[in-house]
Amino acid sequence: MDLEHIPGLGTKRIQILRQAGLGDIPSLLRYIPRDWLDRTQVTPIAQLVPDRSQVMVGRIVRCGMVYGRRKRLLATLQDSSGQISLVFFRALQHWQKKLQIGSRWIAVGKPASFRGLQLVHPELETLNEEEDFQGSLVPVYPIREEMRQSRMEQTFFRKLMTQLFNTEWIRLKKTVPESIQQRYHFIPELDNLRRLHFPGNQHDIQQGKRQIKIQELLPWCLRMVQRRHHLREQGISKTFDFALKDQLAQQLPFSLTEDQNQAIQTILNGLASSSQFHALLQGDVGSGKTIVALFAMIACAQAGFQSALMVPTDILARQHLESLKPWFDAFHLRVALLVGATRSSERKEILYALETGEVHAIIGTHALYSKDVIYHQLGLVIIDEQHRFGVQQRETLLHKGLRPDLLVMSATPIPRSLAMTFYGDLQPVIIRQKPPGRLPVKTRLVEESKRMDMLQFIERECLQGNQCYWIVSRVDSSENPEDPSPAVDSLLQELQQISKRWKVGAVHGRQDERERNQILQNFAQGNLHVLVSTTVVEVGVNVPNANLMVIESPERFGLAQLHQLRGRVGRSSTQAWCFLMPSHKPSSEESDGIAIKEQLQGFAHTNDGFEIAEMDLKYRGAGNLEGSDQSGNWILRWFDWMADQSLIQQIIQDAEDILSSTDSLSDSEKRDLEEWYQEHRRQHSDSPSNGIH
Ligand code: ADP
Ligand code: MG
Repeated sequence: MDLEHIPGLGTKRIQILRQAGLGDIPSLLRYIPRDWLDRTQVTPIAQLVPDRSQVMVGRIVRCGMVYGRRKRLLATLQDSSGQISLVFFRALQHWQKKLQIGSRWIAVGKPASFRGLQLVHPELETLNEEEDFQGSLVPVYPIREEMRQSRMEQTFFRKLMTQLFNTEWIRLKKTVPESIQQRYHFIPELDNLRRLHFPGNQHDIQQGKRQIKIQELLPWCLRMVQRRHHLREQGISKTFDFALKDQLAQQLPFSLTEDQNQAIQTILNGLASSSQFHALLQGDVGSGKTIVALFAMIACAQAGFQSALMVPTDILARQHLESLKPWFDAFHLRVALLVGATRSSERKEILYALETGEVHAIIGTHALYSKDVIYHQLGLVIIDEQHRFGVQQRETLLHKGLRPDLLVMSATPIPRSLAMTFYGDLQPVIIRQKPPGRLPVKTRLVEESKRMDMLQFIERECLQGNQCYWIVSRVDSSENPEDPSPAVDSLLQELQQISKRWKVGAVHGRQDERERNQILQNFAQGNLHVLVSTTVVEVGVNVPNANLMVIESPERFGLAQLHQLRGRVGRSSTQAWCFLMPSHKPSSEESDGIAIKEQLQGFAHTNDGFEIAEMDLKYRGAGNLEGSDQSGNWILRWFDWMADQSLIQQIIQDAEDILSSTDSLSDSEKRDLEEWYQEHRRQHSDSPSNGIH
């Protein structure tokens, strides 16, 4: 049966549901509430406390329009203990008609203190004269903006679900394999969904959530563990002299940190082992990952294999080449650069050298996996700034070699629970220490009223030789004139007015690459005092002399991203500063505003990327973490990545157990598992990946 046959659903609404990935009945059934309101407790009006959601039952004793600064509807709800005002700013006529004097209502909302207590736009449900109030757990559905506009809000979804679940013929295709059902004592999926949409008590919700969490996580973990087993079986062992480690370390102008030392050891062991080595090297911005990669590349070359280091931008590729080439020279090895801008004659020559094996290592961008690039014997793939690449791109490059080793480098620390699942097939290698002698960046939240002071401070600093990055979230202010936050153009104008003496440039994603590189170069050479920029400078720009940064509207970026941006400064021994200028004006969303301030303050207080990643996860959920969407956001819908850590661990263990008893699984059971995974994948790839929360 199609959605068309459901009463109350017109073409427009069906279209909106489709866009949200709710185009058929099974998807609708699986549209699980994001929360449940506990309405099992009624509070007498006289005992209400402010700012907490409470349920009251009473009668309307007054109702009328008030024509003040802003027209509103004011009604009074009364129970045997007292009275409270209900205030409406929208849909005035609608509510005036409904709130008849003497009618009975259940009202739910957070009372606010305003000349006593009042409820602004409470949720209301009518109650018949003789009806007793039966407390219940009321589902709260995720509502998108388009839904809201078509009046598909909580009541709509509650009615729709009641309608659907009361239909006799409703069925769901069985997807979870029998053996899994038994193992976890699952109840049939439809019954599980029923208890989530219409829970009788908190226990129902907990059990229901547990089942869907396992249902979405287990197939993922099975796949991951399978991949890990597969890697363990095959690989090519590389033979080189471990003494190269000391040889190279002695030549460096600094001594390696203990963490770098250990990371290098782990990686060299991995290269030498007979199974394929796939690792995730995590280290904060500036922790010195590049040099670790260098050791791996040299070892690989000594063993007679080529290595490829892939980075997201041309500039970064050139920087890496520049800093690494001397070491390759010292070992009489040849390293080359391959980027989009490489001239065709030069490119031809490099491709030839790659194919014949004359080049031992190559550093470049996406150009490294172009169709016509053939490697003589690619033994190691290194991906820098992994969050800028998709899994597919990584795989394509890997396929250029014969079961090569893989080193994925990430400056966005990944919280443990995520690392275990998303990157569970990669062995974790972690650098926690930073090279000695670095001063932590001082970060300050700046109030609007202090903007002028900040500008003067920066002007003074810049005219004395410092340089400043000035980060904005948008390019063109005319595109959304109501947006209060500065754009590249409006900020340029503002800064020009402050001082004629400083030179200001701007980079953003809409410039062509050559122009952008030119300006970046200019900044790097010290010819510009201020670089206004969008997040294009997030990775790989290295200008040690720039020790100031301003971030406009920091609330628009994730904390991990802010951390990346901030990592552009603090690269020398002078004190670096980072100023955050929030544009968020707490208004109706008072609580939001406070939460954002709290987050930014938390961010200002620490320079530890791991701590920041955990904060990001706590405040914003995993769906917002960089890189998570490529890795399969679709598994993330129900997991609480903070609270469910032990469950994740258990499921990974279960997946190990299930697969290590592969022999005892029958063929049909194996097929069931595979089908389940595919079905799960299909269901979720159709659904919205964002906007659920
Ligand atoms: P990231 O981990 O962010 O990629 P880089 O590898 O770019 O960091 O290193 C940042 C800077 O630190 C580079 O200039 C590098 O030469 C320097 N560096 C790396 N390791 C050390 C060390 N052990 N002692 C001092 N400086 C180091
Ligand atoms: Mg780096």
